[in-house]
Amino acid sequence: MLFDTHAHLNAMQYNDDLQEVIDRALEEGVSHIVVVGFDRPTISRAIELAEQYPFIYAAVGWHPVDAIDMTEDDLQMIEQLAGHPKVVALGEMGLDYYWDKSPKDVQKEVFRKQIALAKKVKLPIIIHNREATADIIEILKEENAAEVGGIMHCFTGSVEVAKQCIDMNFYISFGGPVTFKNAKKPKEVAKEIPLEHLLIETDCPYLTPHPFRGKRNEPSYVKYVAEAIAELKGISFEEVAQKTFDNAKKVFGITR
Ligand SMILES: [Zn+2]
Repeated sequence: MLFDTHAHLNAMQYNDDLQEVIDRALEEGVSHIVVVGFDRPTISRAIELAEQYPFIYAAVGWHPVDAIDMTEDDLQMIEQLAGHPKVVALGEMGLDYYWDKSPKDVQKEVFRKQIALAKKVKLPIIIHNREATADIIEILKEENAAEVGGIMHCFTGSVEVAKQCIDMNFYISFGGPVTFKNAKKPKEVAKEIPLEHLLIETDCPYLTPHPFRGKRNEPSYVKYVAEAIAELKGISFEEVAQKTFDNAKKVFGITR
């Protein structure tokens, strides 16, 4: 069994063939998927999918790229949805210094507000980090995010940073990049960090793993991420699948 901890089946890229994409995932042994919403339309679609499919769960949050658009109403909506039985995390949230739509100080404020909310509603958080590692670590520390913990989504940082995140009660989640030939850092982290701290994800439709790199990604491809980790660690695919599955259930508080 495989657990795709981060998928955007709520993206328009699946408008035409969502059921086929889901069927392929089930055929490949993907038994749980967390669909991540990051603005109003993607949040409502994530909730819809979680209500429609028993094996789909939702995460709700506000993306740092769009931080400048987030209103108090949006934050209240997220708080309300936190009580939904299929909502298992808040996020994705974090900092993204690659795009400059939202100024850094606005991104930081929106990030801090969502961490505070997660502590209030007692849900783990899913962190998006692009070119902002030092500030992410600082904010997680200052806000005592360890209290809820969560997931460093699509982790591409160093072993040192991974250890700092683990110390704060976060799991390290790998996506397609760990399968790329030139991805030195993710491969090092996958080798070094014990399986008990790792998760797998697709971040579909983006970051498609080898050998489909460049095409649209989908949850059935999460097996390539598990295979890459197994090869790097010199252990079986089954062991990686089982342990990352157990880890995901634990962090999201899923009992079935
Ligand atoms: Zn994402």
